Amino acid sequence: MKVVHSPLHARHDGGVELYRGQLVPLFEKPERAAMILAALEAAGHEVTPPRDFPESRLHRVHDAEFVAFLRGAYARWIAEDRQGHLLPSGFPARGMRRDHRPSGISGMLGYYAFDASTPIVAGTWDAALAAARAAMTAAALVVEGEAAAYALCRPPGHHAGRSTYGGYCYLNNAALAAQYLLDEGCRRVSVIDIDYHHGNGTQEIFWERDDVQFVSLHGTPDTEYPWFLGYADERGEGRGEGHTFNLPLPAGSGWDTYEGALGTALDAIRRYAPDALVVSLGVDTFAADPISAFRLDVPHYPLIGRLLAGLGLPTVLVQEGGYAVAEIGINVAGVIGAFATRAA
Ligand SMILES: [Zn+2]
Repeated sequence: MKVVHSPLHARHDGGVELYRGQLVPLFEKPERAAMILAALEAAGHEVTPPRDFPESRLHRVHDAEFVAFLRGAYARWIAEDRQGHLLPSGFPARGMRRDHRPSGISGMLGYYAFDASTPIVAGTWDAALAAARAAMTAAALVVEGEAAAYALCRPPGHHAGRSTYGGYCYLNNAALAAQYLLDEGCRRVSVIDIDYHHGNGTQEIFWERDDVQFVSLHGTPDTEYPWFLGYADERGEGRGEGHTFNLPLPAGSGWDTYEGALGTALDAIRRYAPDALVVSLGVDTFAADPISAFRLDVPHYPLIGRLLAGLGLPTVLVQEGGYAVAEIGINVAGVIGAFATRAA
């Protein structure tokens, strides 16, 4: 399978996150992508760089002022002679105004971010833009006739909304890939999100749309991040009614539970009958993941790849989470290798 990857991801490095009361080095670190790339190269997959796209492609999914904020936030922080880490420290909660964007950088951070685990460092924009281009390039390859393509995106994207960032995500790579497929001729697209965490950003972006189905398997937000979206009663609104389908599972779930839920998700996709599929591929469902609580093991990832390929759809796979760095390469390569074999 063609793998789209840019070394620019490594510029997003050195940030810290607020995790369980401590400022700790970011779990979402460059070694993740290095391990995935090494495993895919060793398995013989062809690696290709992302193409350039006009910024108007980003605005198909994201608010233009939000994109401009992300691009300029670090320079603004430095220009104001700030010290320390570029993290928000206040958010517009219930009872406060969400219609007014403050002009100061601290207020803007709280306006656009929804957590304090997603730092902006000097190279964040370069990396986020390269990841978005990788996802759109993989979509372009599929439009041009590849059965499937994989975007090795880092930073990930599925938590980023139309005008919000968080959960290590800045631009929504999977949503950009889905929109690209639609803009280039697909009638409808399904997004299946198999990251451990609910893809709240992707859900929000397509919430009122009937040309994108969003299906997600994830740890229940009752106890797991992102806590405030991803429940089973969220089903879309307006034209999108019934096109969002959440399958939250209890923390601690293993393959037996997971396999059944994945089958239910795949049945829902078959009923929607899309022209193409986007997979938000997180492997933080792995038992040894440091910030997640499912119990999948190495042999389960090829099974997932085979089941996804069984849909028989043109498919763009987009990298999301996975923080057990030692095994992230073998687990991603397990999905990609099995998918490519089954699809061939
Ligand atoms: Zn995740």
